[in-house]
Amino acid sequence: ALKAGIVGLPNVGKSTLFNAITQAGAESANYPFCTIDPNVGVVEVPDERLVKLTELVTPNRTVPTAFEFVDIAGIVRGASKGEGLGNKFLAHIREVDAIVHVVRCFEDENITHVDGKVDPISDIQTINLELILADLESVEKRLDRSKKNLKSGDKKIAFEVEVLEKVKEALYNDTPVRGIELTDDEKIAIRELHLLTIKPVLYAANVSEDEVASAEDNKYVAKVREFAAAENAEVVPISAKVEAEIAELEGEDRDMFLEELGLEESGLNRLIKAAYRLLNLYTYFTAGVQEVRAWTIRKGMKAPQAAGVIHTDFERGFIRAEVVSYDDLVAGGSMNVVKEQGKLRLEGKEYVVQDGDVMHFRFNV
Ligand code: GDP
Repeated sequence: ALKAGIVGLPNVGKSTLFNAITQAGAESANYPFCTIDPNVGVVEVPDERLVKLTELVTPNRTVPTAFEFVDIAGIVRGASKGEGLGNKFLAHIREVDAIVHVVRCFEDENITHVDGKVDPISDIQTINLELILADLESVEKRLDRSKKNLKSGDKKIAFEVEVLEKVKEALYNDTPVRGIELTDDEKIAIRELHLLTIKPVLYAANVSEDEVASAEDNKYVAKVREFAAAENAEVVPISAKVEAEIAELEGEDRDMFLEELGLEESGLNRLIKAAYRLLNLYTYFTAGVQEVRAWTIRKGMKAPQAAGVIHTDFERGFIRAEVVSYDDLVAGGSMNVVKEQGKLRLEGKEYVVQDGDVMHFRFNV
């Protein structure tokens, strides 16, 4: 499953948010492929379409698709130089697909801020700098080695050196690698380095519990928005403390609590949806009488690869897929109607799966 790593300075609310995530967590029985690790929280991706499909098909069970959050604590100023357990934590970031950067936007005299005052931009820059320094180290090391091999006249190495120089220059100017334009070939040339600042980021602006409904009026949130806009990053205002309370409730109690707070949905749901967008993910569905289920794929995946998300056998033995769009299925009301309308398509190996496709795979074992 795909993973987002939660980072941020100490005392900004990471653990509180992560605890809310694990509390709200998914039944792991449904997700045997997810990591079992105390630092990983598995969440179900909220999707209204799944509710509708369940009404239509009335299956024995409904299974949402899942997403993982990893708690990456311990990044402090100096982490890239190995302070604290810095380097070890930075290494954990290499394994995630995206970064959720929690920034403190709440004031509370009782909770110490590591730098003595609430200043979300300075917090962001502190963490970013550590990641940039760690990347610079990787890039320079690699550059030294590649330059030595340049004499061999290998074009691939010459290209790599060119890309590395470009990346190094950006990092020296405090620009994360995600902030520079790279062609696909350039990305491939540096892929092995697993750079930290190439990962997409979203900022979770942690506001105090009495500001959840009016987070946009919070001056710190406004600053984070301004900063994020320049980076093309998304901001999700959230109150970690409130999320922890929401996570303890279920069903109607939860709905009532959200209504009291003046919220349409939990911050956690918004965070999950934003992470999904950030990673360019799509959802397709399988809808049988036994089970209606959502599956996560990357945008652009073809039918066999999408089938492989269910089981590698499905990919290996892929023959064809029966496909109907979610909208067509809902408009038709049942598979039979959709078939009569000619809206159930047979697609082959080259079909690029669309968000909301309802699919049935035919395959050889
Ligand atoms: P971490 O070090 O980033 O993991 O931060 P924690 O989650 O441990 O939070 C540090 C302290 O801030 C704890 O005492 C939390 O209860 C408190 N805290 C977290 N979020 C909020 C919030 O929205 N409002 C207030 N007042 N306190 C919060």
